[in-house]
Amino acid sequence: MEIKYSIKYSARKTLSIIVERDRSVVVRAPLNTSKDFIAKEVNKKRRLIQEKISHNQKYPFTKPAKQFVSGETLLYLGKHYKLYVTNNPDDGVSFDNKFFIGKTNQKKGNKLFRDWYIKSATEILVPKAKAIAKQLGVAYNNINILDLKYRWGSCTPKDNIHFNWRLIKAPMTVIEYIIVHELTHLLEANHTPEFWNRVAVMQPNFEKAKDWLKEYGVYLEIDF
Ligand SMILES: [Zn+2]
Repeated sequence: MEIKYSIKYSARKTLSIIVERDRSVVVRAPLNTSKDFIAKEVNKKRRLIQEKISHNQKYPFTKPAKQFVSGETLLYLGKHYKLYVTNNPDDGVSFDNKFFIGKTNQKKGNKLFRDWYIKSATEILVPKAKAIAKQLGVAYNNINILDLKYRWGSCTPKDNIHFNWRLIKAPMTVIEYIIVHELTHLLEANHTPEFWNRVAVMQPNFEKAKDWLKEYGVYLEIDF
């Protein structure tokens, strides 16, 4: 079967093929990449792309909207936690081995949980990154926890480090891997063997974290 795809050109270095949540295929390509080359790359990966497109659970036709009712589960640091709706008219979301949300806040659940995750990501990722930067002997400018669309983290030419807030849903080892990865870019801009050596020194099991992201990353991409 022919795979239909759209191409988005930008000033990037590598080509990436993404199956979006609505099952459309988008190729993100460096400027001036030939259409032939892109077609060949898509063809090479057709089986994997096909698998992704037809994966029901991973690529639901409609984004499952959480209702924020008791019994629902939410991911946090690699685990699913149950949600309980309380009668308290408190003004947000709280967590104590379970998530709690007030009855009157259920409708605002999307925003409240997003805020809670961002706050939690900031509290956990920023000190972690600080400690890892110290170990690596690197200095960054600023750390920002953002709504990144296609990446878990990035390192800008001005040495600012960005992390996707959704990372806080991943296990700590995965979070640490992304932090190590981005901070190592302060020493080594590209994914050279030297880059991966440095990552491995900091985190010998980093391949496991990479595998985890490959397998479960899509669950992190869904907001909740
Ligand atoms: Zn990288």
